[in-house]
Amino acid sequence: MSDTQIFLITGVSSGFGRAFAQAALAAGHTVVGTVRDATARAAFAALHPTRAHAILLDVTDTDAIAPVVATVEREVGPVAVLVNNAGYGHEGILEESPLREMRRQFEVNVFGAVAMIQAVLPFMRGRRAGHIVNITSMGGFITMPGLAYYCGSKFALEGVSEVLAKEVRDLGVRVTAVAPGSFRTDWAGRSMVRSARGIADYDRLFDPVRQAREEKSGRQAGDPTKAAQALLALVAAEAPPVHLLLGTDALSLVRDKLAALEAEITAWEDLTRSTDFT
Ligand code: NAP
Repeated sequence: MSDTQIFLITGVSSGFGRAFAQAALAAGHTVVGTVRDATARAAFAALHPTRAHAILLDVTDTDAIAPVVATVEREVGPVAVLVNNAGYGHEGILEESPLREMRRQFEVNVFGAVAMIQAVLPFMRGRRAGHIVNITSMGGFITMPGLAYYCGSKFALEGVSEVLAKEVRDLGVRVTAVAPGSFRTDWAGRSMVRSARGIADYDRLFDPVRQAREEKSGRQAGDPTKAAQALLALVAAEAPPVHLLLGTDALSLVRDKLAALEAEITAWEDLTRSTDFT
């Protein structure tokens, strides 16, 4: 593998995507970053005179994705690393949140990522080389009230990633689902979509959760620039993992969940075992 590579990163206008791109550029790589407006496009292209390429793409425009990737391969070069980073969080009590918000959440966080994967795979498979990194979330393992659509989408992307890793392992393509904890990005600020409240029965449970998230935005423990260094270490690894957590909060919350899940499975083991033909 050459020392410098071409990274294709979705959603480089802020947060993780921007930090990943800056770290990759600083390490000498070439970065093609997707953005959604002309201002973000100019800001990204200004990061490096020759190695920062910005392209306009909304990942829900799935028909546009394959032609965009083909153009990148032709005009910039072979994509070695795809980072499916573009995404956002929907927050709302399930009973109160319109189904269209769930569809939108999955269109961006799941279908957009899968369409990107389908577009790069023919090239990566042909070269028997490449690394697909899907930015999921600790919310792809653990859950909390008010994040049903978001966690659902990230559980989905975790599952998709794990299956894909098994399908392409022998074809030279590596797949990692990277699950960050809470990081200081625009996720809980400008990017979050919040459904309106209306059912008083949920006030006691949910109001403190929403308030705490609003207050914590901008003060999360996770540093995106350190996540970007972790991404570079991940793609440089001989044998990268299929799942990678980022952040101490993700580590402890996921470990707690795994222990609780194991305890629950054990507590109900007899009933579980009772259903096979004897
Ligand atoms: P962010 O600062 O809000 O960045 C989100 C990026 O995704 C922006 O560049 C945004 O572009 C882009 N994006 C959103 N919808 C898009 C669409 N339909 N098509 C193309 N691009 C789109 O938040 P972030 O935290 O860096 O989020 C990046 C990823 O990390 C997301 O998948 C998020 O779920 C995940 N994540 C974040 C955290 C956290 O605590 N921050 C934790 C776990 C996982 P615009 O500027 O055009 O909106």
